[in-house]
Amino acid sequence: MAKFDAHLKCSFCGKSQNQVRKLIAGPGVYICDECIDLCNEILDEELIYTHGRSRQNVEGPRRPIPSGRYSRKPAPTVASVPKPQEIRAFLDKQVVGQEATKKILSVAVYNHYKRLAWHNNQRKADFTSTKLYKSNILLIGPTGCGKTLLAQTLAELLDVPFAVADATALTEAGYVGEDVENILLRLLQEADMDVDQAQRGIIYVDEIDKIARKSENLSITRDVSGEGVQQALLKILEGTVANVPPQGGRKHPYQECIQVDTSQILFICGGAFVGLEDIVRHRFGRNAIGFISTDNCRHEHARHDIQAAQVLRHLEPDDLVRYGLIPEFIGRMPVIAVLDSLDTRALESILTEPRDALVKQFRTLLSMDNIRLEFEPGAVKAIALEAYRRKTGARALRGVVEELMLDLMYDLPSQKSIRSFTVTRQLVEKHAASTKILPLPSNEHCQESA
Ligand code: ADP
Repeated sequence: MAKFDAHLKCSFCGKSQNQVRKLIAGPGVYICDECIDLCNEILDEELIYTHGRSRQNVEGPRRPIPSGRYSRKPAPTVASVPKPQEIRAFLDKQVVGQEATKKILSVAVYNHYKRLAWHNNQRKADFTSTKLYKSNILLIGPTGCGKTLLAQTLAELLDVPFAVADATALTEAGYVGEDVENILLRLLQEADMDVDQAQRGIIYVDEIDKIARKSENLSITRDVSGEGVQQALLKILEGTVANVPPQGGRKHPYQECIQVDTSQILFICGGAFVGLEDIVRHRFGRNAIGFISTDNCRHEHARHDIQAAQVLRHLEPDDLVRYGLIPEFIGRMPVIAVLDSLDTRALESILTEPRDALVKQFRTLLSMDNIRLEFEPGAVKAIALEAYRRKTGARALRGVVEELMLDLMYDLPSQKSIRSFTVTRQLVEKHAASTKILPLPSNEHCQESA
């Protein structure tokens, strides 16, 4: 057992043996465990700046470092943030359509990370220069049109922590439900509890329209699910130092909390806002907005989608107030983008084109059984039509394809003689008929986009 000597001191920090956990001796020098940790940090930082990876990655694990994927990633600089056109190009690879929204998001996100870089520089330099305030984003569009996917894809490109929260699960402090701080905990967990990284992350708050104030509640009872939650969210959206309980759940007074500054976290809120177009229409007077003709569009559902998208292009913040969002809350989301509902042509592209397109996923799965899977163009069209009928946007695609592929995925791996298989239009239609939902004849569907 090592002999304890109170006179031995760390040659670097001067602490004596009894002030540290371990003192290691070299020829004529001593170093304590704390100084070793510090040296490791310096070496790691150096490596990240020069090679973009930590020693952990280069040499394999040396000591337990309480960090992970985002470990010690340097703060963004203007040079390190992709330009709006690069962001757009990346979004194009994964998200079909939604051209206007992609452009709005590319600029908003670029500016956000420029602000962050500016903020980091100014902190070091001078406190009198212009402050740049963040612009959170509101995405309005029907279910399954790509709102979450857009936010997720942005986080992937920027390699920042990303968390999704559901606004309907939140309640104002003191009521049953989740405290808004739990959203931040999710982001912290995504960042491997690295507060600095979490503070540069992106949070997508889904179903934001569901916390609209319900006017009939106002004078009678407290509006637990509506205005109270908006008030609670307001603080973290605009920027506050929030106390986040590390174990989640409800906060209690004696709990130790992690402090998270939300002023640089980008919030993207999304919702379907069903009925919002009626409010806009009402403001103009029912017939004052000129519509693109939908006369040749015989399908009621498609006609409604196109008209709703046209009307929402005239959206103003006041319309959202009438919908039930409080003005301060809307004020915290100065960037508003309206997404289109997806027509069958878009659904066909979603099936086949993006990196993780469903057709590619099933092809990959069967290729592992040495089977080549093909989809006839007519089959893709029929799947898109069937999904369109289900009215949940691209969300329906997975359901339709999973149902269709079940028997094939069950049988094909055992068929030693089958090396390739083509999904035909007839197969899809037969399957659709057997599930009692017949696909629409293609000429019934309107394909002009809104
Ligand atoms: P929401 O608008 O309800 O947030 P999501 O983004 O969660 O919809 O979409 C659900 C799924 O549908 C996504 O995971 C994605 O696979 C697919 N999807 C939806 N919209 C698009 C789109 N525009 N381009 C490509 N895939 C899409």
